Amino acid sequence: MYDTPKGTCVNINASWHCLNCGKILTATLNEQGKAKTVCPLCHSEQIYHKLSRTHRRVDSYAPKNNGLNY
Ligand SMILES: [Zn+2]
Repeated sequence: MYDTPKGTCVNINASWHCLNCGKILTATLNEQGKAKTVCPLCHSEQIYHKLSRTHRRVDSYAPKNNGLNY
């Protein structure tokens, strides 16, 4: 990963473990440093935020009519 001079991300792939089931997810960050994907195994929605050079955040949303495992 790298930052542009203005601190924004361009065409960077992010990978992280699904917070619900642990499957490895990959997605491409947009220019705001966010990536949204749906886990193919448990169908929860995961949103990845690159907040700074040293700070990442992942939000996890359960599928409709279902709960999270943790
Ligand atoms: Zn999952």
